[in-house]
Amino acid sequence: MTVTEFRPQSSRKAPAVASRRDQQRIIVTGGAGFLGSQLCRALIEQGHRVIAIDNLLSGRLENLSDLLGCPRFDFILHDIIEPLPIQTPIDQIYNLACPASPPVYQRDPLHTFKSSVLGGMNMLEIARSKRARILQASTSEIYGDPKISPQPESYCGNVNTCGPRACYDEGKRAAETLFHDYNDRFGVETRIARIFNTYGPGMSPEDGRVVSNLIVQALSGVAMTVNGDGTQTRSFCYRDDMIDGLIRLMNAPLQRFQAVNLGNPAEVTILELSELVRSKTGTTNPVSYRDLPQHDPLQRRPDISVAKRLLGWAPTVPLERGLDRTIRYFRDQLSQNATARAMAL
Ligand code: UDP
Repeated sequence: MTVTEFRPQSSRKAPAVASRRDQQRIIVTGGAGFLGSQLCRALIEQGHRVIAIDNLLSGRLENLSDLLGCPRFDFILHDIIEPLPIQTPIDQIYNLACPASPPVYQRDPLHTFKSSVLGGMNMLEIARSKRARILQASTSEIYGDPKISPQPESYCGNVNTCGPRACYDEGKRAAETLFHDYNDRFGVETRIARIFNTYGPGMSPEDGRVVSNLIVQALSGVAMTVNGDGTQTRSFCYRDDMIDGLIRLMNAPLQRFQAVNLGNPAEVTILELSELVRSKTGTTNPVSYRDLPQHDPLQRRPDISVAKRLLGWAPTVPLERGLDRTIRYFRDQLSQNATARAMAL
């Protein structure tokens, strides 16, 4: 792996040229994030060349540490809200760059909005000039607080243009518009994955989303935070299923522009999730109830019939099994952090 800070074109080292005929040259924006880093890993394992781009706002370089030394992998430290000249041929772009955790994306709402809209446009321009196929990591948040369940792709959503979640929801909606219009006007091959809640090893303990929060709290002996009365629902998809879905969507020979839901239709309440985490970790920590954040969706469940039909894709890892793996990962993370702290004393 090489780590490159973005510099003007003339002084930048171009990634080496691919040798295998079926090898793709692929950009992954948000490549140091929870999903982005795992996607880089999967693509490298498939024999492709990968350039990860990340501003490290919520991504972590340590997520990519095992790719160090791989000659087919490069990292560019760059914020995609600024244009990025790429010298080498590119075949595919996965555009994942944008914080996805509500507390993180709400810290700087203007930047979050720019990440989706300006970032999306900058990446679409690269795709257009390189004749590359480009996949946008969209989100179930484009459905807002849905009035129908499960949510099919044809549902237009129930979203508020103002409020704490709007920078993310509306930014992602606007990005979908851009991806549609670049396809329509310029013939860019665009793909839209509407990603529902995803969890798994590789999440940061400080991520702030519900699965990581509840597990880290359970393992750390502190109260488990449940927002509202915990009857709101989500449908949690394990990381590896999501990565498989993204790669299938990128490579599917779609006949026309079509957004595709990717997620696990198994719906649980947040209270049920907290009970599952309690029983799996064996914690006796109490639950601490907090106010439900403004515009927090009350239900969310994907209709994945389009993904099944077009991609032959459906999740394979049930929540119970995915949680076991994720709890094991966080146990390791927390004990490594404790060891590092003890050594620093
Ligand atoms: N939530 C919770 N406790 C937490 C964090 C989140 O009860 O410590 C709730 C949150 O209010 C929402 C659900 O869990 O109803 C999922 O939140 P998350 O931030 O994981 O993702 P979202 O789907 O809201 O973007």
